[in-house]
Amino acid sequence: MSNTTETIFSKIIRKEIPANIVYEDELALAFTDINPQAPVHILVIPKKPIINIANAKPEDQALLGHLLLTVRDVALQAGLENGYRVVMNTGADGGQTVNHLHIHILGSRPMSWPPG
Ligand code: AMP
Repeated sequence: MSNTTETIFSKIIRKEIPANIVYEDELALAFTDINPQAPVHILVIPKKPIINIANAKPEDQALLGHLLLTVRDVALQAGLENGYRVVMNTGADGGQTVNHLHIHILGSRPMSWPPG
């Protein structure tokens, strides 16, 4: 994982590469994952290039709350009334592959526990 905050998600935010965007506001963007791991697999990201939750700052508090409420709204919009899994892969051991904070919403199938 590179340390730069310029990632493929920066290009999606700037609309330089296509994505199936399902929600957008001034702070956040949500789009379907290109390699879905469930029938519904959506990523919610901040437009601000925070690397991951481990790199978030106290001044990001309101933004992080906004992202979680966006998860709620996007999951509802996607019809996940039966529940869903929310995941933030963080750093190398967390399995993070894109160096821009993102929240996975996975749904429309039962999830097992523990995760792999
Ligand atoms: P993570 O492994 O938690 O860092 O998740 C990164 C996610 O981004 C993976 O699930 C990828 O499938 C997804 N991804 C990578 N590139 C794109 C893209 N261009 N459009 C949509 N999703 C992407």
